[in-house]
Amino acid sequence: MSSDHDLVVVGGGPGGYAAALYGAAAGLDVAMVEKQKLGGTCLHVGCIPAKELLETAAVYRTVAHAGRFGITAGAPVVDMGAAQARKQQIVDQLHKGVSKLLEGRKVTLLDGWGSLEADRTVSVSGGESGEITLAADHVILATGSVPRTLPGFEVDGERIMTSDDLLSITALPKRAAIIGGGAIGLEFASLLADLGSEVTVLEALPRILMGADNDVARLLGRAFRKRGIEVRSGVTVNSCRSAGDAIELDIEGNDPLAVDVVVVCVGRQPFTDGLGLDTAGVKKDEGGYVAVDEYCQTSLPGVYAVGDVIRTPQLAHVAFAEAILVVKHLLGESPTPVDYANVPWAIYSHPEVAFVGHTEESAIEAGHNVVTSVHRFTGNGRAMIVGETDGLVKVIAERSVDGTGGRILGVHMVGSWVTEQLGQGYLAVNWEATVPEVAEFIQPHPTMSELFGESVLSLTGRALH
Ligand code: FAD
Repeated sequence: MSSDHDLVVVGGGPGGYAAALYGAAAGLDVAMVEKQKLGGTCLHVGCIPAKELLETAAVYRTVAHAGRFGITAGAPVVDMGAAQARKQQIVDQLHKGVSKLLEGRKVTLLDGWGSLEADRTVSVSGGESGEITLAADHVILATGSVPRTLPGFEVDGERIMTSDDLLSITALPKRAAIIGGGAIGLEFASLLADLGSEVTVLEALPRILMGADNDVARLLGRAFRKRGIEVRSGVTVNSCRSAGDAIELDIEGNDPLAVDVVVVCVGRQPFTDGLGLDTAGVKKDEGGYVAVDEYCQTSLPGVYAVGDVIRTPQLAHVAFAEAILVVKHLLGESPTPVDYANVPWAIYSHPEVAFVGHTEESAIEAGHNVVTSVHRFTGNGRAMIVGETDGLVKVIAERSVDGTGGRILGVHMVGSWVTEQLGQGYLAVNWEATVPEVAEFIQPHPTMSELFGESVLSLTGRALH
């Protein structure tokens, strides 16, 4: 059977469903093929389940420290079964929501594997929709990514895990090693440590969280150590072996480390299996990502690719932005390409990290004459009230001739709820606002967002606090 559409999307994760929703909202006749469940990595084994379990950890922490607020509560006990059930309920609800949205916009949903063929046709097979061929004016590939693994680490889902496995645990490990000190690894370290596991983070690079400003990464590392998380950077983990009930990690130049569970968090690789790229003539780069230009066009006219399958920051909101860009582009509008250097980043560890734009180091390297200002959570009323004074806000700006601060180049934060506070920093950086302009913004009092206001104000040479 064959069917014609304006747009066919392969993959129903954030990149795919955003393209389908936005395309349908713009009046296109859209079909979308998904081989598993709508929502992709983000909804089922990524953003949503990870953040939901981190909220369980936050509740645990609140109860454990309730005495400080004059509340007597017993020592908290975690029930991972109940925590997993709540997580699943939220995932299911969101899954139903996205399915309904797509149906409401009259997107034709097909269950099966999509494979690109000649002349912008996509064959669908192996699922409930049976064998079908879709002819389209445009095709968007949004097939996402899967966890990378490490040689010498045979993932069994129980003792050696990827992020997919960790998000389904029903019992807490006593000792866990997290390999990889990036966003996902640090969120897992935070989660497990809050709930009572002994956690060691092993990072090969000289420090954790390489994308964030040094001051932010350093404070996060210190905060982790205070909570008993061992953070070891600049270490190479070669292999592991079973040692009775434990697993022993062979770390170059160090004693072996015995743990109960290893979570491999060394990034994600693009997923293009069975997509038919070679036969259709779509080029990949040396890392296996689909090669695209600034409008996400592949080497094949009319075929685009968005999200984790291309070499751009692997974030759901970047996939959304690319999906919108592509739909505008194929409609013949003149969209502005995504500015990847200035996308927002959010890490939901405790304390949280959020940042946008240049770090101090990268701004200097790029040749800017830089001024910075740092304000710490210790002096902030709201931070004291909620009992979360570990944190800082750092604003990186261009030095102006008159000394009142030029363009804001970067905003980097670590501390409680900073993922919810980055919005102003994002606007300032992306609107190319200057220090004097943003210094006039009024921050509600008492809030932690006052720290951003103060940091900018102090760059004018006149601070309040
Ligand atoms: P995916 O979400 O991977 O979706 C791809 C879809 O395509 C899948 O459903 C797959 O089944 C389907 N598919 C693949 N091949 C085919 C085919 N041939 N035919 C049909 N269907 C196919 N990002 C954030 O922005 N914030 C976060 O807090 C965050 N937390 C994360 C936490 C974890 C633990 C992980 C692993 C990731 C996290 N991410 C986060 C990243 C985010 O999940 C991804 O960037 C996002 O899911 C990418 O979307 P995508 O649509 O490109 O791909």
